[in-house]
Amino acid sequence: MKTFCGRANPTTGAMEWLEEDEDYDYHQEIARSRYADMLHDKDRNTKYYQGIRAAVSRVKERGEKAIVLDIGTGTGLLSMMAASAGADFCYAIEVFRPMANAAVKIVEENGFCDKIKVINKHSTEVTVGPGGDMQCRANILVTELFDTELIGEGALPTYEHAHKYLVEEGCEAVPHRARVYVQLVESRRMWSWKKLFPVHVKAEDGEKIIVSPSEMENCPGVPSVCDIQLNQMPPSDFTVLSDVVTMFSVDFSKPVRSASTHYRVELEPVKSGKAQVVLSWWDIDMDPSGMINCTMAPYWVKPTSASQWRDHWMQCVYFLPREEPVLQGEKVSLTACRDAYSVWYKLQKARGKEENKADVHVESPVCRCQAHLLWNRPRLGELNDQNRTHQYIKALMTVLHTDSICLCISDGSLLPVLARYLGAKQFFKANHLEDKIKIIEARPELLTPSQLEDKKISVLLGEPFFTTSLLPWHNLYFWYARTAVATHLASNVTVLPQAASLHMMIVEFQDLWRIRSPCGTCEDFDVRIMDDMINNSLNFRESKEAEPHPLWEYPCKSLSDPQEVLTFDFRKTVPQQCLGTEGSVSLLRKGKSHGAVLWMEYHLTAGISVSTGLMDISNEKGNCEWNPHCKQAVYFFSSVIDSETLSDLPSAVTYAINFDPKTGEIAMDFKL
Ligand code: SAH
Repeated sequence: MKTFCGRANPTTGAMEWLEEDEDYDYHQEIARSRYADMLHDKDRNTKYYQGIRAAVSRVKERGEKAIVLDIGTGTGLLSMMAASAGADFCYAIEVFRPMANAAVKIVEENGFCDKIKVINKHSTEVTVGPGGDMQCRANILVTELFDTELIGEGALPTYEHAHKYLVEEGCEAVPHRARVYVQLVESRRMWSWKKLFPVHVKAEDGEKIIVSPSEMENCPGVPSVCDIQLNQMPPSDFTVLSDVVTMFSVDFSKPVRSASTHYRVELEPVKSGKAQVVLSWWDIDMDPSGMINCTMAPYWVKPTSASQWRDHWMQCVYFLPREEPVLQGEKVSLTACRDAYSVWYKLQKARGKEENKADVHVESPVCRCQAHLLWNRPRLGELNDQNRTHQYIKALMTVLHTDSICLCISDGSLLPVLARYLGAKQFFKANHLEDKIKIIEARPELLTPSQLEDKKISVLLGEPFFTTSLLPWHNLYFWYARTAVATHLASNVTVLPQAASLHMMIVEFQDLWRIRSPCGTCEDFDVRIMDDMINNSLNFRESKEAEPHPLWEYPCKSLSDPQEVLTFDFRKTVPQQCLGTEGSVSLLRKGKSHGAVLWMEYHLTAGISVSTGLMDISNEKGNCEWNPHCKQAVYFFSSVIDSETLSDLPSAVTYAINFDPKTGEIAMDFKL
């Protein structure tokens, strides 16, 4: 079987479809999978184990055989727990073939071959009865099919089917139930991920304000869940408007219905404010009594116990279709609608019961204004960042003249509008602004002199930002575009940014290291086969690469000074030969060198730069503050050096970093 994998080519900015054999997909999936993170989630694992032991005991106490159905067995972990707890037999279902194969090996390695049957099928394809996949229905149903939104990975349809066809009535279920919690908040920061705030531009002829069109003001946005590490959101970035309430719950031991439905709760605001966002998370009770509880609650909800870090389950941010003012003590009614796979919210004034019944239909949010398709949430946050805008305005003021002819190359950029307000006479490529700005729908290399009205460009602008970029240096597409339009540029053209630089720093992560770190054993089960499999996938075609992560969500401390490693001069065209550098970076602090972080800085003009990565190192401990709108590149070292003391620090990490202009990619190698 062949698979087509879409990938943007950083030299052309275009999507290209590469034909890969099926192993390629698997390796990508395994290398970047959350399996390691789940196996490191001690809190989850111990609670599953407790819940499974309790369920097996209850069945045994009734004098029945314990027959377990484990849907989505992954490594086989939960089935091995059940078998150890005394289950008579386990059916371990796994749809993803490489994982099912791994589960077979792991089960064998741990000596459970006679107790666990791994079945490589989707649960809805599993047959029961003589000659079927399962001899009989199970009386214990164990699963871990949840995502941050609880139901996004299809838990509801899977449970619905399992109760109909695969388990006995009155079966035990681990987990036994889930509850979804909500809390209403006001947050300018989170709201800036959905709305475009007015941009104030102080021009010579007075202040101008860029406002978004009304279609965008009234647009409900996009339906996909916004899942983040809410624990990294400081209290100063939001105001709580309501208590935490249970929005809905699901009992997994009874038949489950996946059909679309809605739930409604009344909230009494604890504070007056603008309701903008619903924060949500869930917990699961592993047993009917609720004694074994695993919760995703953020820090301000359960401040006492140190919570487990995990990346496979985070918290959800739901944007209300509109901002609604609420008054302390004046009840409002919050409706959660869900289909089989997702949830969305609506807030209304609380009214009589009868009235409320009438109006149950709440549409799933669908972007009608197009802007939410062009600007994803971090990008909207970036455009709303006033400090950043100010830097661009300052830089534009130094390069623009009344007779400037500007060309802007960036996706969904406000630069043309800013430049226009700041006095540029003529502008190409951007939105609206009548005759002053002209949008050219052409790839840079296909631009014709007539599209530019036979004018030469005096100012070439870019943020740069392109929606297809995955890693920081993919925005170097600006350099390629600049090269492609070279013939249209005046001999004394000003290019803004005039240059970019790649920066690098060695860090110790507080937690992110877990997602790429081998587990060895998990709850005393040997899972090294899984570790090897992930490692093998990471090394597939020697493809060890940097990966993008939004580091504001993943605290780390710097172990070295930040170092500029490469520069890219946008005043010149892209060179033919590679840009390489080798060197070493000194380690200054003790700690575990988990990897290197890389990011780009753009030098708009000689004196004005913006960073898409490091903003600040805040104290002598080396805590880092990262640009909250951008993903940085993380290169995980294959082995970690751990220096407890400064004297056993290796003095430096050596590196070789190479930019290949033919591919637009950056290859790197580090030696500790
Ligand atoms: N049970 C393991 C792994 C959980 S990850 C653990 O707790 O560590 C969930 C796994 O379920 C994934 O491997 C996914 O491929 C699989 N899966 C999801 N829905 C499934 C279904 N309906 N049938 C079979 N496998 C499923």
